[in-house]
Amino acid sequence: MSARPVSGAEWTDRYQGAVMNTFGTPARVLVKGDGCWVWDVDGNRYLDLLGGIAVNALGHAHPAIVEAVTMQLGTLGHVSNFFATEPQVRLAERLLDLLGDRGGDTGSRVFFVSTGTEANEAAIKATRRTGRTTIVAAEGSFHGRTMGALSLTSKQAYREPFEPLPGDVRWVPYGDVEALRAAVDETVAAVVLEPIQGEAGVVDPPEGYLRAAREITTAAGALLWLDEVQTGIGRTGHWFAHEVEGVTPDLVTLAKGLGGGIPIGACIGLGAAGELLGPGQHGTTFGGNPVATAAALAVIDTIQHDGLLAHVSAVGDVLAEGLADHPAVAGITGRGLMRGVVLTEPVAAQVVAAGYDAGLVLNAPTPERLRLVPPLVLGVEDARRAVRTLRSLLDETAEGSAT
Ligand SMILES: *Cc1c(COP(=O)(O)O)cnc(C)c1O
Repeated sequence: MSARPVSGAEWTDRYQGAVMNTFGTPARVLVKGDGCWVWDVDGNRYLDLLGGIAVNALGHAHPAIVEAVTMQLGTLGHVSNFFATEPQVRLAERLLDLLGDRGGDTGSRVFFVSTGTEANEAAIKATRRTGRTTIVAAEGSFHGRTMGALSLTSKQAYREPFEPLPGDVRWVPYGDVEALRAAVDETVAAVVLEPIQGEAGVVDPPEGYLRAAREITTAAGALLWLDEVQTGIGRTGHWFAHEVEGVTPDLVTLAKGLGGGIPIGACIGLGAAGELLGPGQHGTTFGGNPVATAAALAVIDTIQHDGLLAHVSAVGDVLAEGLADHPAVAGITGRGLMRGVVLTEPVAAQVVAAGYDAGLVLNAPTPERLRLVPPLVLGVEDARRAVRTLRSLLDETAEGSAT
């Protein structure tokens, strides 16, 4: 005799009785994923255009990650940071290599963590070692939810319940070179920027912004810190979004897609910035865990061997070109497989809700914007299917708001 299946509604009820209510009501209860598809407990299938918020770079249950994690866990699953492990060293070298650096005598070094906010906390501590305390951050920014990273996150609703927040933070409008120039003086330790703002709804800076930020920070002796937690590791069709501008930052923070679903992040100091934190000045129990670093190596290897950077650019264009001419769409932002769909009406939440019923996982970071950050392995056929479904959702929503 089999037990009575527990429905999504029942699981949701149990969730609400046991899990702290910080995320609101879960949209669905998911039980399985394969490639770019996920299934809920009630048997419905969804094409996943959110990918765990830009995390599932290789989709769900990718054999390369499953094998790397299984092998490593069966060999050496965790050690303390009193010890080094092979995957940890290899991943640090690999990340520096992807950034065009070789480590060693260049000074560049990597600090491993488990999440994006933690990568940014490490960077904040590194900036304090310059002897300066002011950090310049951009309006619309998202850098995480722990107290330090939250102090650099602009959204009032996230900040207000926890004030006073730490830090000497100076705010500038994102993308405004002259405002940045005016804000950065010799008291500034660092300027922190997302190369494309993710949580704000995939907001692009004007061309040349990062180059200007590099020039302005260098002139003031301040660090340029790029938060590539969302944009990094292939998301935009480049290993790092800042490559497009040809700049070399001092600090780069990573997480989200790096482990393809296994929690890992990194704070990378390039050149002298790699030596700001010394022995005893920072630490974390899980940072550099062999299973997590093995997973990240599998992600990077797969992106490389499967030619996924070029694929991301091509499939991203299928999405962008397929949606750009819809009358409910005012424009498409972003690059590669990090796209914002700017709507002519503030109906993004309705489109997301209708998407679930149509078998599509979408996301609405703002009332007027959809964000598409699917797995980097999204196939062209699935991208076309997503475009067709999304266009009909937009047709229906436009009709609904007209009547
Ligand atoms: C998601 C995100 C973070 C925070 O990462 P967590 O893993 O949620 O702590 C920081 N910066 C950017 C740009 C992000 O998109």
